[in-house]
Amino acid sequence: MRAFRAVGGTPRFMVSGAGPYLIDADGREYVDLVCSWGPMILGHSHPEVIAAVQEAVARGTSFGTPGEDEVRLAEEITDRIEPVEQVRLVSSGTEATMSAIRLARGYTGRAKVVKFAGCYHGHVDALLASAGSGVATFGLPDTPGVTGAQAGETIVLPYNDIEAVRAAFAAQPDEIACVITEAAPGNMGVVPPLPGFNAQLKELCGQYGALYVSDEVMTGFRVGRQGWYGIDGVAPDLMTFGKVMGGGFPAAAFGGRRDVMDHLAPSGPVYQAGTLSGNPVATAAGVAQLRLLDDAAYAAVDTASGQLRDAVTGALEKAGVAHRLQVAGNMFSVFFTDSPVTDYEGARSQEAFRFTAFFHSMLAQGVYLPPSAFESWFVSTAHDDGALERVADALPAAARAAAEATA
Ligand SMILES: *Cc1c(COP(=O)(O)O)cnc(C)c1O
Repeated sequence: MRAFRAVGGTPRFMVSGAGPYLIDADGREYVDLVCSWGPMILGHSHPEVIAAVQEAVARGTSFGTPGEDEVRLAEEITDRIEPVEQVRLVSSGTEATMSAIRLARGYTGRAKVVKFAGCYHGHVDALLASAGSGVATFGLPDTPGVTGAQAGETIVLPYNDIEAVRAAFAAQPDEIACVITEAAPGNMGVVPPLPGFNAQLKELCGQYGALYVSDEVMTGFRVGRQGWYGIDGVAPDLMTFGKVMGGGFPAAAFGGRRDVMDHLAPSGPVYQAGTLSGNPVATAAGVAQLRLLDDAAYAAVDTASGQLRDAVTGALEKAGVAHRLQVAGNMFSVFFTDSPVTDYEGARSQEAFRFTAFFHSMLAQGVYLPPSAFESWFVSTAHDDGALERVADALPAAARAAAEATA
């Protein structure tokens, strides 16, 4: 994703960040609308997070034993999100989803996993089929290195198509271990679940003895204190987290129902481990960041997101560019199409060449957007009026560039 292959040009090498701004190796400043793909929800170099990290580093960087901040971070998660009765810390979202589906298979004694086209769950072999994010951006049909055996137990269905899920369960009622879905997908651009979709997924899973696994690596602690669960209230059997919870460090987690989590080693037979899991520096950063994320912080992110969305829509409308701005909480993205996007096929049918022109105009004017039309934009509590004004000033020219772009 960072390679700029989708949009062309030279990727910017960033050397520092403060608040909503990034500075590249040539000394140019950008308003950052990527926020490290979500984690930097308090902006860059937040003084309290940096202080917590410095204090932790000074005490040593890894002990290979249980640690206090590991417990604090686990409690920050379980206190917020009721369906998470027990949680296991890992180091990346990929590890979280990989471990969650292993646990689902171990718990149910079943092999098959249902995922949705355009959803990205990290680069887990079994979950790379029709994945979003970089796989979507580069239009990769399949990934060499993933064997038929690894992908063969994965059933890929169109997103938001509950009838397809119903049919899959009916065809193999005793074989599906779990359905894994992004709580609100942000990796094919932002494509929120249709009303009731997640609730129906959960209901079907329950009916057939499969687990409902909600991947909140992107939405968790970002779209609100309780992530997407706080918005739709559908209690998953297992959940995965990453990005925001690490405060800019590699910390991620999976958790859920106690009777399911009890199947994990050492209390149960399903193995899972990690040398640096619960790392003291990463957990210190995570605890500091989560503790700063109160209701006021989320209100600030929501407000910044709303102002930015209005400015983007206004500029694109004025330039006469067909587009759909799609929203999930404070995450959003722009599709260059005039029909609503509800699945991966719809996302791919947009005029992505318009995004390329839009992106480069913004970049030249000092605004760093995700270098892909298939990614969410992210803002932080640090995106103040000054930063948003700079974006607003850049938008008219970028909208004109999008209007004039040709395939
Ligand atoms: C980013 C992401 C992942 C993968 O997390 P990594 O830390 O990059 O391995 C998994 N699921 C979702 C929904 C994500 O957005």
